[in-house]
Amino acid sequence: MQRLFSVILAAIALVYWAYFGEPARAQSRTAQEQLAVDIYKELVEINTVTETGDTARAAEAMAARLRTAGFSESDVQVFTPAPRKGNLVARLRGTGARKPILLLAHLDVVEARREDWSVDPFKLIEKDGYFYGRGTADDKFMAAAFVANLIRYMQEGYKPDRDIIVALETDEEILDRDALGIQWLLKNHRDLIDAEFALNEGGPVGLKNGKPIRNSIQTSEKVSLSYQLEVKNRGGHSSLPTKENAIYRLAEVLARLSKFNFPFPFKLNETTRAYFERTAELEGEQVAADIRSVISGRPDPASLSFVRLSANPVYNAQLRTTCVATLLEHHARRTGRRSQGDAGAGSRR
Ligand SMILES: [Zn+2]
Repeated sequence: MQRLFSVILAAIALVYWAYFGEPARAQSRTAQEQLAVDIYKELVEINTVTETGDTARAAEAMAARLRTAGFSESDVQVFTPAPRKGNLVARLRGTGARKPILLLAHLDVVEARREDWSVDPFKLIEKDGYFYGRGTADDKFMAAAFVANLIRYMQEGYKPDRDIIVALETDEEILDRDALGIQWLLKNHRDLIDAEFALNEGGPVGLKNGKPIRNSIQTSEKVSLSYQLEVKNRGGHSSLPTKENAIYRLAEVLARLSKFNFPFPFKLNETTRAYFERTAELEGEQVAADIRSVISGRPDPASLSFVRLSANPVYNAQLRTTCVATLLEHHARRTGRRSQGDAGAGSRR
């Protein structure tokens, strides 16, 4: 999620989840739908893992498709601020009556280790009405939809009352830490992506029995804050344990943290309140009643409706601040000394 960008352009986020959200129907595709799937497949099958993959290749591949479809060189540009790092900016010219709109998606994906996957993560597989592959949902379906739509607009001679800009950025998954993605574009080519507003990922379409029932709009994003807890001690030998043990200390802290997750206070804002009000209309009886009871006043955190609603991770995260441990790292510094009884792994770890 690209925070900075949403702030700068006051972006409204909207995702056309339904585009690929419904179970795929391979047989009955129109030529346009097939083109979208082909582009999707090409994107998924280019490894764009932020650290090791190649977003420049993905950006070039999408640029090639757009140029083939008739976009001019100057309206399709690929920028590679570093090796393997690419950003694409494409523009469909409108009449210019209104300011451009920016459609933003990211090309990079998080790591996918083959051994963690039941299928090859860099092959688009269509099975039982679903697509499998790294980035199928985050965020290559969106990039593919944008590119496929631009091509269609060009083919149909569509001239909107404003330019439609598509930007496919790199390094979103690391929050653009290296400033090679959207920040680089803002700094070096702001004119190319300047728009009245932007649509990016974030507000999915909700499905019920395979039918889209809502299209969410994300008005802003929860800000995340990372803390690093570090415990150290002088080490020792497993045959001579002491009371002081860094592992136990850390474990205690984490156990406390796990219990702290719940009492974060209930807090809604204008957007999340509206979200719950509208969601209640679409939910089943029990959930709808729970939502209405929780948002009607100051809820008792121990009440059944509040506990039930909080058990749903999506709802819980919108009811309050959340906090979770995500990564454990171990840095052992071994001394050169070896003793006779150096057998217990526990003493070194
Ligand atoms: Zn994403």
